[in-house]
Amino acid sequence: MAHVHDPYEEAKKQLRQTIELLGLSEEIYEILAYPERLIQVRLPVKMDDGTVKVFIAWRSQHNSALGPYKGGVRYHPNTDAHEVIALSMWMTWKNSLAGLPYGGGKGGIRVDPHKLSQSELMRLSKAYFEAISDLVGVDQDIPAPDVYTNPQTMAWYFDAYSRIKRGQYFGVVTGKPLELGGLQTRIIATGFGTAVAARELAKKLWGGLEGKVVAVQGYGNAGYYAAKFLHEWGAKIIAVSDSKGGILVESGLDPDEVLKVKRETRSVINFPNAKRITNEELLELDVDILVPAAIENVITEANADKIKAKAIVEAANGPTTPEAEEILTKKGIIVVPDILANAGGVIMSHIEWVNNRMGGWITEEEARNRLEQKMMNNFAKVWDYWQTKLDTSKYNMRAAAYAIAVDRVVRAMKLRGWI
Ligand code: GLU
Repeated sequence: MAHVHDPYEEAKKQLRQTIELLGLSEEIYEILAYPERLIQVRLPVKMDDGTVKVFIAWRSQHNSALGPYKGGVRYHPNTDAHEVIALSMWMTWKNSLAGLPYGGGKGGIRVDPHKLSQSELMRLSKAYFEAISDLVGVDQDIPAPDVYTNPQTMAWYFDAYSRIKRGQYFGVVTGKPLELGGLQTRIIATGFGTAVAARELAKKLWGGLEGKVVAVQGYGNAGYYAAKFLHEWGAKIIAVSDSKGGILVESGLDPDEVLKVKRETRSVINFPNAKRITNEELLELDVDILVPAAIENVITEANADKIKAKAIVEAANGPTTPEAEEILTKKGIIVVPDILANAGGVIMSHIEWVNNRMGGWITEEEARNRLEQKMMNNFAKVWDYWQTKLDTSKYNMRAAAYAIAVDRVVRAMKLRGWI
């Protein structure tokens, strides 16, 4: 399924639409449609049984007009160069929209991390960071967690880098464990930010979240925390899913109880007394807010017509294809786009990075308040642009978010004399 739609082609289409909307030149498209640099490495790693496996990995550095490249690294058996390039392009827009001093980057290793032991994962992670160590850095490129990577992965990266560069450069990666300069709030940041975006939307549409019915596809870090905060703020989470399938409880689920079951049995589907549903069925439920929080291309022209949600708030990167979005827009379904709705992670990464450079000054409470404020401001900025500058029956919120994001990058490129 993942390969029917090439995320890079989708990302280029979104860029093309924005170039047309803003009346920008073909040269600008030519610059922005490709990464400035694409690194591909092959990593031989010794397995615990003494055999050697070779892994292929990438780091795509899409654009640096606004600052050092910034974005996560994903470990996934289906990742490839095109996916990583698309994700790096989306990081450029996400960072630009959030007003951060960062360009966009993303990395990926083709691996199923569940099949490796912790020590194999450590050797793979250190080998990856060593291979790209001359091209990353506190002011060059700052990786972070993404799908199936976490604070432990960042600790290995940080250690590999520190040994090679003979210095403690805490700001070279974000999303680190607390003991190594991380912030507790980074863990909740993406899902919390998505919940804030959903809350702001709910205020505009219905006066608030209270009693609103929500379905969440994907129960990793982003999905769980989005569900947790939405539940805390009065919404009713009726369905969640993971890669093994989904569950539906019309009277509402407690996200923490679901997490417990997932931790114990490795899937949400073992939650007792729930109706089992597929991921496809979850996406088509009649809910107020649908939160896709897994991977890209799950809402396509094949199912867009069947979506009954009133609004979609994207915690995942690239879950909706441009063709699907056209259908959704015609149906009047509002899409709060990934580059706005899931920016909480990188916004908190920026706070962590600044905090590292200052030698540690922020409190967790302050960090969380800043994140919330920034998400609210970003939402308002995009909403106002959408309402005042675009025909909302023809364009969705994504068009507004892209217009603001691309415009900032283009202005930086002009100021630097690139164009
Ligand atoms: N991987 C996250 C994202 O897609 C966070 C990136 C970061 O913190 O640099 O936005």
